[in-house]
Amino acid sequence: MINWNMHKLGAQPNNIRQLFEYGRSRAAVVGPENIFDYSLGNPSIPTPQSVNRAAMELLSAMDSKALHGYTSSIGDYEARNAIARDLNERFGAGARAENLFLACGAAPGLVAILRALSVPDAEIMVIAPYFMEYRYFSEACGEKLVVVEADIPDFQIRFSEVEEKLTPHTQAVVLNSPNNPAGTVYTRKTLEELAALLTRKSEEFGHPIYILADEPYRELVYGDAEVPFIPNIYPDTIVCYSYSKCLSMPGERLGYVYVPDSATDSRDLYLAIAGAARASGHICAPSIWQKMIVSCAHERPDLASYDRNRRTLYDGLMEMGYTVAKPDGAFYLFVEAPDGDSESFSEKAKQKDLLLVPGTGFGCRPYFRVCYAVDHDMIVRSLPVFRALIDECKAEQKEQRMKS
Ligand code: PLP
Repeated sequence: MINWNMHKLGAQPNNIRQLFEYGRSRAAVVGPENIFDYSLGNPSIPTPQSVNRAAMELLSAMDSKALHGYTSSIGDYEARNAIARDLNERFGAGARAENLFLACGAAPGLVAILRALSVPDAEIMVIAPYFMEYRYFSEACGEKLVVVEADIPDFQIRFSEVEEKLTPHTQAVVLNSPNNPAGTVYTRKTLEELAALLTRKSEEFGHPIYILADEPYRELVYGDAEVPFIPNIYPDTIVCYSYSKCLSMPGERLGYVYVPDSATDSRDLYLAIAGAARASGHICAPSIWQKMIVSCAHERPDLASYDRNRRTLYDGLMEMGYTVAKPDGAFYLFVEAPDGDSESFSEKAKQKDLLLVPGTGFGCRPYFRVCYAVDHDMIVRSLPVFRALIDECKAEQKEQRMKS
């Protein structure tokens, strides 16, 4: 017999993938220069030269078995040690190789953490807008996803609602900063306030409420915005990191889970995460990239082209009258639909070959997501389409006002 819940997930690709596929097929008809595809979060800056060079050297110099063979199931010591050193130099983390589990990207790392926390009646809190896969990951682990509404227009955290919705069953609060889809970064003040609240509630409930810091966009931050290292603010933090976005290598699958010594039951938690990964058949992250990271753990992306895209799009949309969340990080803008509904607005945009992701799946229907990891030229060519859309909305609204 088939598990029809799983069948449903397989049969319905998420709406971002659907839009992306639609864009591809449409490009074949109208020409790629006439499609403005802002759907998929695929990095557009090149992978750093040092990363490619390291991989090529490994391929040419290393013995085949040593390079392509199984690694240690939790990740090679040298790779974990290099990452620990980098965390210590940047954040004074006090990390050791023993605190790190190498994962095939952030997604399986998240699943391993959620599975490690999946006791009966477990609840996982997410702050909207949130990465839509959190729902499927936690529900597949038998956990209840509890959503805290978006705090519009700042996209920080609604503490009163967090407090209301925390229960003795809450195992973790997932934080994603810089945020997909809003591009916002939680401020130090926000994190300190959350830490104080969770400390108080953990004491009240008699068990830790972990923060699960999902950080694939940690290095993608602009201007003078700060991305605080959350374990330094809240000891019961588990970090899930990925090289997908920061080194532009999402197809290669490398990330890690970091369980600091400061976390309650740190060693047992780590072992439960390693065990959950084992039970999911997810061990031995790709060997070549583990070996690459030994020499490249300190690499950071050159953000100049994302920053240029961000400014062009943000300034252009604001000048037209759109409302945009403050875009401090990641490579997304989150924009309020001028007709108040991102579903209908995205559909109107699609009719003009402008592909925008409605915010509904992220838990925030009034806003749509624009991924600016794209060619700058495409942004410039798409601006008149954005203008036509807002002008049409304004004209419709004016007509309705006159009728009523
Ligand atoms: N978490 C967030 C917030 C993401 O946006 C993504 C990917 O887009 C992931 C996790 C998964 O990343 P990975 O490619 O490392 O599995």
